[in-house]
Amino acid sequence: MRSQGKTIVFVPTMGFLHEGHLTLLKTGRTLGDDLILSIFVNPTQFGPNEDLDTYPRDLGRDLDLASRIGVDAVFTPDRETLYGSNYQTYVNLENLPRHLCGLSRPVFLQGVATVVTKLFNIVKPHIAVFGEKDFQQLTVIQQMVRDLNFDIRIEGVPTVREPDGLAMSSRNAYLSKSQRADALCLIRALETARGMVTSGERSAATIIDAAEARISATPGTRIDYIALCDPETLDNVTVVRGPTLMALAVTVGQTRLIDNMILDPPDSQGL
Ligand code: AMP
Repeated sequence: MRSQGKTIVFVPTMGFLHEGHLTLLKTGRTLGDDLILSIFVNPTQFGPNEDLDTYPRDLGRDLDLASRIGVDAVFTPDRETLYGSNYQTYVNLENLPRHLCGLSRPVFLQGVATVVTKLFNIVKPHIAVFGEKDFQQLTVIQQMVRDLNFDIRIEGVPTVREPDGLAMSSRNAYLSKSQRADALCLIRALETARGMVTSGERSAATIIDAAEARISATPGTRIDYIALCDPETLDNVTVVRGPTLMALAVTVGQTRLIDNMILDPPDSQGL
């Protein structure tokens, strides 16, 4: 593809494709000539007590969806190919992993940065597309690409949601019918926060308290974090002055879900 002068667009995933992934692929289609999808459930981004073994997989269905979207190539390496014996090199960022998911999932962002580096070196894309659903992951990749001088443009795609607002995720397949209903507390908490900011509330603590109350009112949920932070550095803010990331991670039953939203005070528009 490169020798033919094609612009290569790359969408890395862990498979079990849903409309969120398909939107990344459809966006990718419009950005270049050839579209490459990877499907790899990356072991290095899962902690010892996480869901690596049970992570949902359906390669046949994924390949079918990919061909319908017009993907030009699918890369489905196995574990041995990417991490053979005596593997020992990892990519680590200094500050971004000290926030949000990095605190409760210590190996997650190192695993993501490492596998994305490897996939970039193997696939050699010109453009790579990631979802804003995993906002910290996107921030880490943008930082890593700048810091390590990857000659790759990173494109972010807004979160794709179910009609009732639940952010699409392969892990939603774990939810029972009642847990699926309970999972709406994430988007409801974000909407509560957005409403408060629109009506003039600026105190991060007050907004976080209200979001926490919204989630705690749903039985069977456990909050990992609710944070208001700078969308670039991910440092916590105490006062919402401009566009601010609200990010949360909540376990519903046994399933850990994440979601986020940029809260933009009306008076900061255009600043
Ligand atoms: P995953 O397979 O969960 O590792 O995700 C692969 C890519 O799809 C990542 O860039 C995710 O951010 C993105 N993605 C997953 N869910 C969504 C969603 N609901 N909306 C937009 N992008 C998503």
